Amino acid sequence: MPIYEYTCPKCGHAFEELVRSADADRQKCPKCGTKAERQISVFSAAVASPSSGGDLPPSCRSCGMDPSSCPNRM
Ligand SMILES: [Zn+2]
Repeated sequence: MPIYEYTCPKCGHAFEELVRSADADRQKCPKCGTKAERQISVFSAAVASPSSGGDLPPSCRSCGMDPSSCPNRM
C-alpha cells in the first residue's frame, strides 16, 4: 500500500497514512477531525516532514533509492 501525506486545512497538522487508494481521499485530521487534504509529494516525505517522528533514512529525491547506491543522487 502507498503512503499518503496529508495536511489539515483547519489546524495545519501534517501527517502520513498508509492507506488503500480507495480510502486515500477520506482521511481525517487526527487532531481536529477535519477532512484532510492529500499531498502529492510521496517521494519527498522522508526529507520534508521531520516532525513525523519516523526513522526513515534519507533517500534519493529522483528515484527513492538509498543515496549511497543511487547513481542519480543529487
Ligand atoms: Zn486538524
